[in-house]
Amino acid sequence: MLIGMDVGGTNLRLGVLQAGAVIEEMRVAANFSEICKTHTPDEAWQQILTISADLIKAALKKHPKIRAVGIGFPGFIDPVTHKISQSPNLPGLLNVDLSTDLSALIGLPVVVENDALVAAYGEFCSLNGAYSDLIYVGLGTGVGGGLVLNGRPFAGQHGMSMEIGHMITVPHGRLCGCGNHGCMEQYASASGVAISYQEATSKKNTADAIATLARAGDIAAINAYETAGLNLANAVSHMVKVLDVRLIVIGGGMSQAWGLLAPAFQRALDAALIPVLRGKIEIRVSTSGDQAGIIGAALLSVASR
Ligand SMILES: [Zn+2]
Repeated sequence: MLIGMDVGGTNLRLGVLQAGAVIEEMRVAANFSEICKTHTPDEAWQQILTISADLIKAALKKHPKIRAVGIGFPGFIDPVTHKISQSPNLPGLLNVDLSTDLSALIGLPVVVENDALVAAYGEFCSLNGAYSDLIYVGLGTGVGGGLVLNGRPFAGQHGMSMEIGHMITVPHGRLCGCGNHGCMEQYASASGVAISYQEATSKKNTADAIATLARAGDIAAINAYETAGLNLANAVSHMVKVLDVRLIVIGGGMSQAWGLLAPAFQRALDAALIPVLRGKIEIRVSTSGDQAGIIGAALLSVASR
């Protein structure tokens, strides 16, 4: 038995895995970002550790046969030290060692990896060996990416591979949180869709509400999703030219609106690909809901790396 844990923006989710399937899910409200903003880094870190350890201990009480914990974390994980070198969600915390500190509290080995990378691995494992490689694209508030190559998650030399949301698709475009202009996630994420819609209409709306408007025929809403599809296709065409991976899995909350992105995406992808590759790239929308991250993190805790 294994635990997979997913650190989200407002809650911490945990799944107990037995024979590759989640047999129990537990969650606790936890806003780590808010904790970091309102405490000193040391105090914030202690709180984060306590909240995480308490949730794991509650699971261990019910399932004493759990032997390892894997955690998907929204941040850059150093592939050598396995420390969280930086996380946009944890302002003030640098080079924190979640795996060592948490392991000391719960008495089990803990593996920490980037959240999009564990989702990629979870999707890969759910395909039961049908593919050797895949690219995972997580469309949420931002855009994350994960790569599995030859059956192994690929983190890169600095734990920063597949930061695809920051591929520049609009030169001199919208200012991004990373400091550059025109990053793909400024157009293809939920927040990007909201910005596109607001630029056209001066109205603020969520990506979900804009999706509803688009389905009802609202032109500005349709255009906002089309812009998302075009920018995502631009980035994906570059990834495919570099990596020649056949399968792209689309996940994250905004994947539920994939039908609105898909026509523009497919058109732009075909146009940008080397002709011989057209029609050979498979795009799949994730069917694992939000469980890919939990499953991937759990399986990664015992995978040989
Ligand atoms: Zn950026």
